[in-house]
Amino acid sequence: MRHVFGPVPSRRLGFSLGVDPVVPKTCTLDCVYCELGPTTDRTVARKPYVPVDGILEELGARLAENPELDFITLSGSGEPTLNSDIGRLIDGIKAMTDVPLAVLTNGTLLTDPDVRAALARADVVAPSIDAVSRAAFDRVNRPHESLDPALIADALVTFAREYRGKIWLEVMFVQGLNDDSDEIERIAGIIDAVKPDKVHVNTVVRPPAAPHARALTPKRLQEIAERLGPAAEVIGSPTGSAQPEAEGDASDAIVAMAARRPVTTVDVARSVGISQAAAAKLLNELVERGVLSVVRHGETLYYRR
Ligand code: SF4
Repeated sequence: MRHVFGPVPSRRLGFSLGVDPVVPKTCTLDCVYCELGPTTDRTVARKPYVPVDGILEELGARLAENPELDFITLSGSGEPTLNSDIGRLIDGIKAMTDVPLAVLTNGTLLTDPDVRAALARADVVAPSIDAVSRAAFDRVNRPHESLDPALIADALVTFAREYRGKIWLEVMFVQGLNDDSDEIERIAGIIDAVKPDKVHVNTVVRPPAAPHARALTPKRLQEIAERLGPAAEVIGSPTGSAQPEAEGDASDAIVAMAARRPVTTVDVARSVGISQAAAAKLLNELVERGVLSVVRHGETLYYRR
C-alpha cells in the first residue's frame, strides 16, 4: 500500500500531498462521522506502525515529479501521532523540501510531551476538538477507554502556549450529538484559551462511519461559527484550479486517495488533472474491477476503497 497519496484538493489546505504514517484503521477514537469507516484498532499504543525510511523514500520519489503543492500533510488511515517515529518523519520531510508541513491530529495524544515536541517542528498543526464534556465526547468520538476529555483540552492549551507555528483548530458538529448550546459554550471556552489562528467549523459531508451521524444545516453552522469568535469560519467545498494532468495510468493514485477518504468525480478530476468525464470513466472501471465501491450520500456519489 502506498503511504503518499494525492495531491488531494482540500478547502483547508489547498492542494495537499498526504503522507500516511499508520495503517488502516488505527486511531485513538472511533468518531461517528469518520470518513474512513469504523476504527478496527482503537488504541493509544504508540509504535512505528509504518517504517519512516520507506515513507521518506516514497515521498522523495513523488516530490521529484514536481507536483503543485500548497502543503504536505500528515494524515490518512487514522491518528498520525500514534506513529512513535513521527518526530523523525517530520524532521526528514523538513530536510527534503520547503513545502509547508501540516499535521492533522485528533489531539488526544498531546498529553504526551514527546508528541508535543515532535509536532512543534511542523508549520501548521490542525487539531480537532468536537467535545469537552464526557457525554458529548463519548457520543461523537467514541474514544479509547483511557482517554479523558478534560486532560486532552488542558494538553491542547499547553501545546498552544509552547508552539510557535500556526494552529488551525477544527470542530466537527453532528446533529443532536454536540450541537447543544452548553457544549458550544464549553468549546468556545477552549477556543478562548487556545487562541488558534483559525477555527474551521465543519459538519458531516462525506459518508460517515455511523449512519446516525447527520449534518447540521449551513444556517446553523454559520450561527455556531459566529458564537465561536472571529477566527471561526464554516468550511465548504474546495475551490480553485486543477492539478496538471498526471503522466501514465492514474488508477493507482486514485485508489491511494480513495483508501483515505471517499472521493467524488470532481475530487478525482481536480487531483489528477483530467476532465470529470474521464474521471467518471476511470472510477467506473475501478468499481467494475471490484477495487472501489460506490455509495450515495445525500445527492452525491462517493467512491471508496
Ligand atoms: S475522524 Fe479522525 S480521529 Fe476520528 S476516528 Fe476518523 S481518523 Fe480517528
